[in-house]
Amino acid sequence: MYLEQSEEQRMLHESLDKAMKKILTPEYLRRIDKDGVYPYEAYDAWVELGLTGCGIPMSYGGLGGDIEDLVLISEALAAWSYDVSTALTVPLFTGMTLLRCGREEQKLALLPQLASGKIRMSVCISEPDAGSDVSAIKTKAVKDGDTWILNGQKIWVTAAGARDTVLQIYAKTDPSVSAKNGLSVFLIPNTTPGIECRKLEMLGRRAAGSYEIFMQDVRVHESAVLGQVNCGWEYLLSGLQVERAITSAGYVGAAQKVVDLAAEYAKTRKQFGQPVGEFQAIAHMLADMQTDVDAARLLAYRAARHLSRGQSALREVSMAKLFGSETYIKIANQGMQILGAYGYSLETEMQRHFRDARSTTIGAGSSQMQRNAIASLMGLASRPARRADS
Ligand SMILES: Cc1cc2nc3c(=O)[nH]c(=O)nc-3n(C[C@H](O)[C@H](O)[C@H](O)COP(=O)(O)OP(=O)(O)OC[C@H]3O[C@@H](n4cnc5c(N)ncnc54)[C@H](O)[C@@H]3O)c2cc1C
Repeated sequence: MYLEQSEEQRMLHESLDKAMKKILTPEYLRRIDKDGVYPYEAYDAWVELGLTGCGIPMSYGGLGGDIEDLVLISEALAAWSYDVSTALTVPLFTGMTLLRCGREEQKLALLPQLASGKIRMSVCISEPDAGSDVSAIKTKAVKDGDTWILNGQKIWVTAAGARDTVLQIYAKTDPSVSAKNGLSVFLIPNTTPGIECRKLEMLGRRAAGSYEIFMQDVRVHESAVLGQVNCGWEYLLSGLQVERAITSAGYVGAAQKVVDLAAEYAKTRKQFGQPVGEFQAIAHMLADMQTDVDAARLLAYRAARHLSRGQSALREVSMAKLFGSETYIKIANQGMQILGAYGYSLETEMQRHFRDARSTTIGAGSSQMQRNAIASLMGLASRPARRADS
């Protein structure tokens, strides 16, 4: 896939575009963004296309495929809306953690439901006092017979309040040791008694939404622990690499759409008797924009290639995440400049990209943290970096 799509991938891309054209109309996208409504109609279409089973082996009811396929789906879908794309990519990469780290009975129980669209998944790591520094997680789970009782709070969790969502919640299970040895992951439906999800007002990414989650005496059976108790740190690190590779491809798809919109506008908008795209200032800006997006795409594909070969790819993923997110922001800013006042109007798509893009150097690990990780792999200790790879 490094540079060219296979025939199967090309066909998938085409059917996705065809289905999305009917659902993700400009009016629909404007409405769900404005009102903060989850894109259930789009999700149903993804289920029909089998996309919710992508990356899940056929033996668990999925479509098969690997990270490279997920990356292509993420890129294709984000061209419609980065926000909407996360309604699919978050369950997909969260499902990959279950596939990689779950016990066999958990995979048999949950992966077919995820593939068939019966359930969704969201990942709950961040807390009010634990952002870049995940080791500061305070949510705790205490064993009581064959159950665990969870108390704590999560924040900024994407799409946590959507119907039928199973939350992957990181909690401290051994307070006597550091998070590296005392963190576990719980699989808990968002309707479980004691859980309250509250949607937050955000600048962008308003349809899938960001949620605050309150947990008060949430009692779950011990079978809700993903994989093994106290192995959460290991699951987190490998999960973040997959998450970042997939989201980086989303930045690329969305940024490419911005370039296409801006180029189209520049060819048709006339001032001083000529298309504005014939002014060198605008033409060169567009040439730089396309070059940046192509570079971001290559980094995202390289990261996916490494991961699909089963290699750890901290360097490749961190670079793809860093460059992809910063490119999306830069391109959305330039795209808005090219569209002039039209780009700033809430009636056009450009301002949504501008708002959605702004989150991408923060969410899934900030740009500063990606630079810390890259620098530390170059032998440059950047302090403090207790979680250099997060
Ligand atoms: C739209 C969106 C969606 C999200 N979705 C999810 C989700 O689904 N699940 C989830 O668990 N979380 C989610 N998050 C949370 C996200 O992971 C955190 O926002 C991120 O890890 C940064 O944490 P913070 O916002 O608390 O910033 P902080 O960690 O408080 O950082 C504040 C600033 O300090 C910088 N900084 C911090 N430490 C260092 C350091 N060591 N070196 C240099 N600079 C540093 C940061 O880069 C940042 O600029 C989401 C966030 C957003 C914006």
